Amino acid sequence: MIKHKFEIPSSKINWEGRIISIQPRTRVWRYVTDNRTHYHLGYNLFIEGESCYSDENFSVAISDKQQSKGLFRIGDMLKGTAWTKKYEAREFADFYRAGSLRLLDRANEIFEVKPPPWIMVPPSMQTYEERGARMLSKNLWKTKCFQCIWANMANVEIQWDFDRDIKKYRFETFCYGPKSCKFYKMGRPRAVPYKNRDSALDDGYLDELCTEGRNDDEYLYCGDNDRF
Ligand code: SF4
Repeated sequence: MIKHKFEIPSSKINWEGRIISIQPRTRVWRYVTDNRTHYHLGYNLFIEGESCYSDENFSVAISDKQQSKGLFRIGDMLKGTAWTKKYEAREFADFYRAGSLRLLDRANEIFEVKPPPWIMVPPSMQTYEERGARMLSKNLWKTKCFQCIWANMANVEIQWDFDRDIKKYRFETFCYGPKSCKFYKMGRPRAVPYKNRDSALDDGYLDELCTEGRNDDEYLYCGDNDRF
């Protein structure tokens, strides 16, 4: 989709529900296969509950600061406000700019699920930044990996024309988890288009660059509710 010319007016909503997954919220800038830069913005809460828009599951973007303060995790009942999106194609979360967050119930004080997936209080943005991400099969993101703190659905902007600063937008799935995770599959290589030429193919080479700071048998803390 080409860059939106017009904004959709944003409005404030109230929501309430239980967290069924919490993942990092990121923006990824792509330029053919010369560059893939991940920006770490905060967290996406995936909620089973109600908003004034629907009674189906929905997602809400919160800031790093809000997560640091609340240490939210799967199972928490929360309520708050948020805003509808201005640009549908640029933001995966259904609502963003969350506010007035209130914890209503915390059933799971201790997590005893053996990873993978890693189901625990997610680490800081700095940890995600330092670890770097690999492409993750979208099908795995939706299924086995959905509750893992290392799973990520990124808001991707593709630099399609530098001269006129035209971008294309889409969403892509990534994994920040251990390279040895038995669930991991990259999925198909991803085409990165640029005007007037064939698409370049991101076939995993950039994953190696993005995660070159860690090795295959890294140790990962999997304890209680401390942050990384
Ligand atoms: S592949 Fe990645 S996201 Fe999926 S369970 Fe393993 S570490 Fe988590």
